[in-house]
Order: sequence, then structure tokens, then C-alpha cells
Amino acid sequence: HGMLIHQFFDYHTRRNPEHQCLLFQGKSFNYAAIAAESIRIANGLRDQGIDRNDRVATLCENCPEVLTIILACSRIGAVAVPLNYRLAAPEVAYILNDAQAKILIAPDMALVDLLTSIRPLADPALPIIAASAQGAENWQHWLSQYQDTAQFTDEIDANAGILQLYTSGTTGRPKGVVSSQRNIIALYISSSTSVSVKAGPGTRDLVCAPNFHIGGVGTLLLPVLAGASVVLHSSFNPMAVVDDLEKHKIDNMFIVPAMIMAILDYVPNIEQRDFSSLRQLLYGASPISTGLLERALKIFKCDFYQCYGMTETTGTIVSLSPEDHIRALRDQPELLQSCGRPQAGVEVKVVDAQGNTLGIGETGELLIHSEANMLCYYNREQATAETLQDGWIHTGDSALIDEHGYIFLRDRIKDMIVSGGENIYPIEIENILSQHPAIGDVAVIGVPCTKFGETPLACVVLKPEQSLDEAEMIEFCRGQLAGYKIPRQLKIFDVLPRNPSGKLLKKDLRMPFWEGHARGIN
Ligand code: ATP
Ligand code: MG
Repeated sequence: HGMLIHQFFDYHTRRNPEHQCLLFQGKSFNYAAIAAESIRIANGLRDQGIDRNDRVATLCENCPEVLTIILACSRIGAVAVPLNYRLAAPEVAYILNDAQAKILIAPDMALVDLLTSIRPLADPALPIIAASAQGAENWQHWLSQYQDTAQFTDEIDANAGILQLYTSGTTGRPKGVVSSQRNIIALYISSSTSVSVKAGPGTRDLVCAPNFHIGGVGTLLLPVLAGASVVLHSSFNPMAVVDDLEKHKIDNMFIVPAMIMAILDYVPNIEQRDFSSLRQLLYGASPISTGLLERALKIFKCDFYQCYGMTETTGTIVSLSPEDHIRALRDQPELLQSCGRPQAGVEVKVVDAQGNTLGIGETGELLIHSEANMLCYYNREQATAETLQDGWIHTGDSALIDEHGYIFLRDRIKDMIVSGGENIYPIEIENILSQHPAIGDVAVIGVPCTKFGETPLACVVLKPEQSLDEAEMIEFCRGQLAGYKIPRQLKIFDVLPRNPSGKLLKKDLRMPFWEGHARGIN
């Protein structure tokens, strides 16, 4: 009952069964074929004893099954739990157990080794259907036993969960975010109202973001709900993205800043490629440097949207529009530092530590009110109560809102440094240090200090054949930063730890410094 994602999909299938839904590794799948397969899987899941609200875990690179399994779950009221295959086996097993998965489907040959390492760590009673692995039933064989014609007459509640994605684990252990059918439909309405290229039977998206993060699942589901075609990449490969943008005349794509950087830095002769079909590029999920953004705008020459959102908001709820990008390039460069304004139907506010609403230009925690806000963290009542209060998501991001409603993110609150009672936002220091000619990459973290409690330390990756010492760094910051914000300590790294979405793992950088010390906020 209500608005269910498979109902949107079935509408397009009835109307346009032959229309291409997915293009994957040179193979085209029309709407009718995807519908048939999803019904087959739904029948199989039923036969396997999967009931409403049961968790169906999946482990695969991007592939058509990501879509068919989610649609199958929607038909029977089950909850899809896509697992992050880039985690180590014990981390995946942790999530499998945390989700209390009733079945694991791994239709991906490439992940057989990972699956084999997970098997002994998982519940021995957990049925596994896989491309091939010991102790698992073969996926193709399993599928072939079921019909593609059954009717599912159960009443499914639009407020029940359909997707359980785990947060990136940037600030702690990943948490299972339960999004409802209604959340996804709300995201669809809000996004399609806010972007300029409305997905539909005449448009084609390229999806290369991974299916275990909302950025990848959302950008796969939304075009399909609209009856569009998706060119699906199993994982991100900069050359393949550029080739397919040209070859398949892609209209729209979502990528994260780290992917933009890889495309601009590693694809030869990028200036000579033809991106004339591309009408819209969405980017986000982590901060982007203004330099990179300006380069990207010149290469892709299309509408740019910056997206801000989190797993807990089922995706993008704040965006910086193409008009804002144009204005920024014309005469308001500071706008590029903003992640934008709330999308249709979304409210935001900034509060202090006591929960009082702050005024224009004041920095505090950003709160989000949206129909797409998650139902809860799975089996984490305490964490849910802290994050979701009276319908508002506490983002854990500090931000300010200017007089025109633009949101400027500062830092994650957990990354903020409190030194001698002063709040220091690492991003301010990072913005200065990244302008130093010797510095390629930089992260500033708080480390223990007997005098001030905490003090900033700069973790730096040097550009080739460059050097830097503490005195030079301090000298460079002087005059640009208040004295108490200037890092006195420097540590040189070959590379900084990032997760697959390109997010800096500051908790990993901090860890060695805090052994034997208590830090309230890991
Ligand atoms: P965890 O919650 O487990 O620590 P995470 O917060 O990184 O991990 P996600 O839900 O994938 O997990 O990411 C949401 C966060 O990503 C936001 O809270 C914000 O800090 C960051 N983020 C998202 N979009 C942007 C953006 N456009 N610019 C800067 N940061 C962004
Ligand atoms: Mg988070």
C-alpha cells in the first residue's frame, strides 16, 4: 500500500516493456527482463522463508542484480542490505551479524575469495547463494528453479524499511541506516524537482558509484523509478567513464570529488574528449577543492550540482545549483565553498550544544528535516535517539547558514579541535596549508597536549622533490591564522588514509596519538 518502489518500476514496464533499463558490460536489459528477474528472485526469497522485514544481504560489485534484488525485496516487503565488498572479511561479517541477515546473495565471481573468508566468520546457519564458493548454493541454478509470473498480494507498508545501508564508518563503526519506501519516494520527488535534467524514458545516466553507499544506490534507483536508461559500471574506472560518456551520449552522472580528480589527472588528452551530450554532473559526498572544481567546470562544460547529504537522509537533501556555480565563477567565488541550499521540501537549521537555534552566520551543528530522513539505525535505540530528535537529523557536521540561506560546512564535530577552550576547525587550517607550494595533501587533527588539552597537528603529503619542516610551516601560517590555530607539529605521510568515497579517515590518523589518553569524541 502507498507508494512502493516496485510499483513505479512496474508502471514503466507496463508502458514501455522493451525500453532499455540497464546497459551492463555490453549487455542490454529492458524493463520487462529486469521485472521478470526481480519476480523470480522474489519467488525464490519467499521459498527460502524470507518474510516481511527480513534482511537480505547482498555482496557484489555493481551489476543488474543490485537492482533486481532490491525490486524483489520491495515486492515481498523485505529489506535489502548491500554489503561493502571493500571491507575486510571480519568487517563484513560484523555487518552481516549486526543486520541479522536471513540470507546472503553474492552473484559476483570476482568476490569469491572474500566470500570464502567471510563464511567461517558468519552464522553457520546463514544460507548463501553465490556465483561460486564452497558451502554456497549456485546463484544461476538457484534462480532457474523459480517462475517469473507469481503475484505478491501481501499488503506492504510504505513506512516499512526497504533498504539498510551502512554509514561509511568515517567517525566510528558503521551503523545500519534503515530507509523506508516512503523515504526513497520522497528523495525521488525532491531530487527530480531540484535538478534541471529530469530523468525519463529519453534520458541516460551513467552510474559508477558503488552500490553499498547511498550515492550509488540512489543514483541507480532514481532514474529507474523515472523510466530512464542507466549505463552501469561494475566499479569506477576513469578511462571507462570517459569512454562511455562519449559512446553512450550520457545525459547525467553522479561522482565523488576523488573520482573527478582521477578523471582529470589520469585520462590522457581529457581536454580533447567530447562531453557535449552531458547535460548535468552531480558531485558530492565529501568536500571538493575550488581548484579542482574550476578545472572540472572547464572540461565538462555542463550544469554542475554539488550534493550534500548523508546515509541518514537517504541521499542528497541540500544542493548547490548550476546558477550558483555560474554566479560563483562570475563574481562570487566564495559561493563555491558552500554546499548549497535545501532542496524542495527540506528544512535546515543550525543549533548550539544546548539545542538552541542559532542565527545567520553563527556556527553550530547542522540539523535536517526531510521526508527522506531515515526511520532509525537498526537495533541501536540509543544512537537513533541521539541522531533523530523530533524528526530532525543531527548531522554531526558543523556549519553556518548565511543571509541567503547558503550552507557553509565547517567540519565534522568529531574532528573539531578544542584547544585551551577555543574551538578550532581543521578545515580552516587545511585551506591555508593546501596553498603551500610543497604540500600535496593535508589533514589537520587534534593531538593531546598537557597545556591546552588538545593541539592541532598537520599530517602532510609532500609534492615530489619538496621538503617542509615545522618552522617553515609555522612561518607560512603566520599572519593568515590566529596564533592558537597554527599547528606546531608536523608529520609527513606518503599517503593519507581515505575510504572508498574519498573521505579522510581522521580517526585513523588520530589513533596512535591518543593511546592511553581519553578523548571524549573518538
Ligand atoms: P560515519 O557516519 O559512519 O562516520 P560518514 O558520515 O562518512 O560515516 P556517510 O553517510 O556516507 O557516512 O557520509 C555523510 C557525511 O559526508 C556528511 O555527514 C558530511 O560530513 C559528508 N559530506 C556529504 N556531502 C558533502 C559535501 N557536499 N561536502 C562536504 N562533506 C560532505
Ligand atoms: Mg555520518
